[in-house]
Amino acid sequence: MTSGTVCLTFDFDALSRWIAWGLASPGPLSRGEFGAVAVPRILRLLSGHDIPATFYTPGHTAETYPDLVRQIADAGHELALHGYCHEPVSELSEAQEREVLLRSADILEKLTGQRPSGCRTPSWDFTEHTVGLMAELGLSHDSSLMGHDYLPYPARTGDRWPAGEPYRFGSPTGIVEVPVSWTLDDFPAFEFIRTEQLVMPGLRRPGEVFANWLDDVRYMLTEYQDGVCVLTFHPQAIGRGHRMIALRQLIAELKDLGVRFARVDTVAEAWRQGRHRR
Ligand SMILES: [Zn+2]
Repeated sequence: MTSGTVCLTFDFDALSRWIAWGLASPGPLSRGEFGAVAVPRILRLLSGHDIPATFYTPGHTAETYPDLVRQIADAGHELALHGYCHEPVSELSEAQEREVLLRSADILEKLTGQRPSGCRTPSWDFTEHTVGLMAELGLSHDSSLMGHDYLPYPARTGDRWPAGEPYRFGSPTGIVEVPVSWTLDDFPAFEFIRTEQLVMPGLRRPGEVFANWLDDVRYMLTEYQDGVCVLTFHPQAIGRGHRMIALRQLIAELKDLGVRFARVDTVAEAWRQGRHRR
């Protein structure tokens, strides 16, 4: 019998994203500050539907908004790693990358009493060390790569791409990759950003964006018996009124499709037990 699972994931970047982007002035920072206004709205919506979710939360956010992070945990959601201050890992040395993971895990554990078991790298950036460091830290799952759309798979270390030769896949690790996609991320769809380097137009109609997302879930239900679709939200993006109305409608339509909602750690554990393989 066909079934499908949807993971609602929220990257609670708050102010850290703007600091990491070098846009730390009062205007952009206030956009991050709005993320903290949005989180209680999201928690109310999720609890009204009894939906468990995963919140990828930088250590910086957790230390800035400890009460909100405790509320997220108390509501039964998963808290997982997302850098300390949203630093792109490709700009870090291996030692710095390890230090960021350890420090952030300690912060989340101290606040919630629970050691995080999952990670999502800021902006889905990766280095050749990232997966090995996650394994070293004892994490069980990651949600940053895009090698599939509906089936989790083991994250690898040691991939090589020598010039003029075929790609050489490395060794699978114990980290379960629960894949994501830019096409299923609210931030580029909704947020308007203009800097000297780039213009990100954003500001799309949420109904139009979510129609695409629903079609991705419909396709999963026709092609896979036990697939998983990960949707990525940012409180500072989704928390605006018209988008919250659209999220409420999206959840209703997903329920009509008969999908289950699960935290990413639940999906990773089920994958280990042989689920979500076809
Ligand atoms: Zn982020």
